[in-house]
Amino acid sequence: MNIIDIINNKRLKKELSKEEIDYFIENMMQGNIMDYQISSLLMAIVLNGMTLNETINLTNAMIKSGDIIDLSSINGITIDKHSTGGVGDNVTLVLTPILASLGFYVAKMSGRGLGHTGGTIDKLESIKGYNVALSEDEFFRQVNEHGIAIISQTGTLAKADKKLYALRDVTGTVESIPLIAASIMSKKIASGSNFILIDVKVGKGALMKNIDDAKELARIMIEIGKIYNRYVVCLITNMEEPLGYAIGNGLEVKEAIDVLTGTGPSDLKELVINLACVALKKIKNINYNDALNMVNEVINNKTAYNKFKELVVAQNGDINSIDIATNIYEYKAKQSGYIRDINALKVGEFTRNLGAGRISKEDKLKLGVGIVLNKKTGDYVTEGEKLFDIYYENLDNIDIEKFVSETFEFSNEIVDRKKLIYDIIE
Ligand code: URA
Repeated sequence: MNIIDIINNKRLKKELSKEEIDYFIENMMQGNIMDYQISSLLMAIVLNGMTLNETINLTNAMIKSGDIIDLSSINGITIDKHSTGGVGDNVTLVLTPILASLGFYVAKMSGRGLGHTGGTIDKLESIKGYNVALSEDEFFRQVNEHGIAIISQTGTLAKADKKLYALRDVTGTVESIPLIAASIMSKKIASGSNFILIDVKVGKGALMKNIDDAKELARIMIEIGKIYNRYVVCLITNMEEPLGYAIGNGLEVKEAIDVLTGTGPSDLKELVINLACVALKKIKNINYNDALNMVNEVINNKTAYNKFKELVVAQNGDINSIDIATNIYEYKAKQSGYIRDINALKVGEFTRNLGAGRISKEDKLKLGVGIVLNKKTGDYVTEGEKLFDIYYENLDNIDIEKFVSETFEFSNEIVDRKKLIYDIIE
């Protein structure tokens, strides 16, 4: 067997065997396959796809490339959550303390921002002192003691994904359903939780641009979960406009705290509550209304907020010291009208340019910068009224008018609010 035959087989649309896929991943990890050969195979996969069997075999080979966390020492149901990536997506920060307050164990390994999308670990690092790198022992101890720990994905899980992702990022091969499914599920299976909630984002700000593709991705991830006895539920959700009002690391932490203390944006709240209800309904076998009451109770009586504080303290953070930039530029609307669209991709790129995300791997983030919207799709804005605030350190080379013209669409007619949750697939 050799890599050239494997590339040719995929180029000719043949189904790769388990042996070929294992050969590819094992030899890639041993450094026996050149980056250009890996990239060539990746492109053939993007163009010609993979069958479910191939995707399952690829996921399995990627899992085997690293450690597999054994969560059997955790005394209860372990639950994990993943988002395929969005703008203003701080769901994890709100949802996980709610889940822990409901008695689930959240042993969560999260990632950093990628491209125009944010990452939970960068957000948590905007809390002064928060330690994202616990040892395995500390991690297990904290989950058992507090029901929740959120740390940075260790480099030892699904090692092949790290290698593949770095190449995909720079070879135009990110957007492939089988590659995305294998990438996400290899990390989720290796992370060990029994129950996995996945928020599959769809729209301009997301990897999946249409609902059919998002559903297909969801179904494949669910099938992969079944092989490993993991229960996977996917919510297909809107990422045409940013989620919530805040986009930027510290700003999103603050907004998450708003939701946990009873205020905050309604779309973020709706998504979090639905994710929590889906988990409760399935695991505790109760109906939606009972689940909703339980979720609302832990928010209203501040149990979930206290759990978030407990998480932050356990990981050495100071919840009273969140990095928020002190320079604020208030942008006033130049026209009146209903907001027809706020392009999530453009907002993600703009905040990245402010320093909230990385342009190159080595960039140090400005954790306090970003945008806080004052209006969302469907709202009416009057000329001269605030459209958004920019929190910044430096506005040199930032073209705000260009950003506004590329990002905001206005209408004279009433605009319906966009649907947030398209489907739940399990
Ligand atoms: N998130 C991942 O972890 N992997 C992908 O390929 C895409 C989104």
